Amino acid sequence: MQLYNKLSAKERAALIDEAGEDRLTLSFYQYAKIGNPHLFRNHLFIAWDEMAVLGRIYVAHEGINAQLSVPAQNFETFKNFLDGIYFLENVRLNIAIEQDAKSFLKLKVKVRDKIVADGLNDETFDVTNKGVHVDAATFNDLIESDDVVLVDMRNHYESEIGHFKNAVTPDVDTFRDSLDLIEEDLRDHKEDKKLVMYCTGGIRCEKASAYYKHKGFKHVYQLEGGIIEYARQVEQLKLENKFKGKNFVFDHRRGERISEDIISNCHQCGKPCDTHVNCENEACHLLFIQCEECAEAMNHTCSDECKEIIALPYEVQKELRKGIPNSNKIFKKGRSEKLKFKRSL
Ligand SMILES: [Zn+2]
Ligand SMILES: [Zn+2]
Repeated sequence: MQLYNKLSAKERAALIDEAGEDRLTLSFYQYAKIGNPHLFRNHLFIAWDEMAVLGRIYVAHEGINAQLSVPAQNFETFKNFLDGIYFLENVRLNIAIEQDAKSFLKLKVKVRDKIVADGLNDETFDVTNKGVHVDAATFNDLIESDDVVLVDMRNHYESEIGHFKNAVTPDVDTFRDSLDLIEEDLRDHKEDKKLVMYCTGGIRCEKASAYYKHKGFKHVYQLEGGIIEYARQVEQLKLENKFKGKNFVFDHRRGERISEDIISNCHQCGKPCDTHVNCENEACHLLFIQCEECAEAMNHTCSDECKEIIALPYEVQKELRKGIPNSNKIFKKGRSEKLKFKRSL
């Protein structure tokens, strides 16, 4: 029985091209008590592999968090499969607005300690005591009121390319950092202000809202289904769109355009741009914003140093990487001294 991927990303891309099939990019999550995550993981992998589902899925004792690409023709089968699992029956599926058949090229189902790396000790507070969920229309009204603090619960590189107008966008690398920062900033307003929060698909707010209530905030609201669901409702119900720019997404597309505004700049030349790329130098792989001109001039790298390295024969590059720890830990996402125009707050 096959429990893991056999095809490389390249082979998969070629297969998708050949098949010419329509695929849907979607995501969902659910907090639920899962007794044996490994068994559940295998169950999912076998079923989804059969349906040619691709994506990145985390399974933990606390639930499931899934980002997927499903062949359109298998969608019914996929949906029926979910409905057959008691805690996933009618789970809200966030369907991406911009479709890309190659949003995911592998099926990876991983067992983790948690479905979101939130750094929280769940034993210390009641995770089920969540904030009030609001839909797009209610959210639009709510954020206009004077006693509201609107907080973006995502990381700096996400809010950089798109966020709600008037939102506080913490300059943080992790969810945990932003929880502390916001609490510190709002410590004197736990009772008189309404704390309204949002994230990509809603999952981070599920924990954050419960955490803030535990910390004494009296009025906590969260955008139901996050930016993804907001954009869908805005389009479907012809509501005013108060989100500017792109919604950063964690698949091959990296960003989904929600409004035509370009609110960020190329990190190398400073001109308006909101296209995230990874530095072509495998030893660097820095995530940053780069315009097409700079991409060409820099040969898709983040710096002169990386440009020189990728000009070397591959074997020499590999030799150079030996003994150097994973650079993702050195250069944080979108942060490098070499980027002249990175955002500063
Ligand atoms: Zn540029
Ligand atoms: Zn680089």
